[in-house]
Amino acid sequence: MSTIVKYGCEALRVKAKPVTAVDASVRRLVSDMLATMYAENGVGLAAEQIGRTEAVCVIDVPIEHACGVKMPLVMINPDIIEMEGQQTGQEGCLSFPEIYVNVKRAERIRATYMDVDGNPQTVEAKGLLSRAVQHEHDHLNGVLLVDHMSPVQKVANAGKLKRLKRGVQRGD
Ligand SMILES: [Zn+2]
Repeated sequence: MSTIVKYGCEALRVKAKPVTAVDASVRRLVSDMLATMYAENGVGLAAEQIGRTEAVCVIDVPIEHACGVKMPLVMINPDIIEMEGQQTGQEGCLSFPEIYVNVKRAERIRATYMDVDGNPQTVEAKGLLSRAVQHEHDHLNGVLLVDHMSPVQKVANAGKLKRLKRGVQRGD
């Protein structure tokens, strides 16, 4: 299990590096990420959130939102190849504790990725699973929840965001 990297830490702004081979070190990373996500009660986690640079994310949404996809969903080198429609819903992030904002996302997506056996896969998702894939895909590109906030949402959360950044400087 690892510690979650919080907003304000530069590691979250780095673009992830594609995984070239799914080896033992990648599989260990995946186990660590799953353990960390479950310990923190998250529905998704990207490698950058535990200070790693591999393009890996893990997702586990409740079965009624899983679109028939077996959970947990481990995505290596995920790429969103189709987006359709629109949904607005509340979103949180383990790197932004206690901050929840409404974010506009595509309703349906189709994404390609590599599974833990190194096989190419495609996933089609809507609703919460689609939102989770888009959120984690953002992380791997250095894009964060705060980047989706409207000016009004930023003002409303300014105190919490400032405290988070201060905490990172103190090393909390
Ligand atoms: Zn996040």
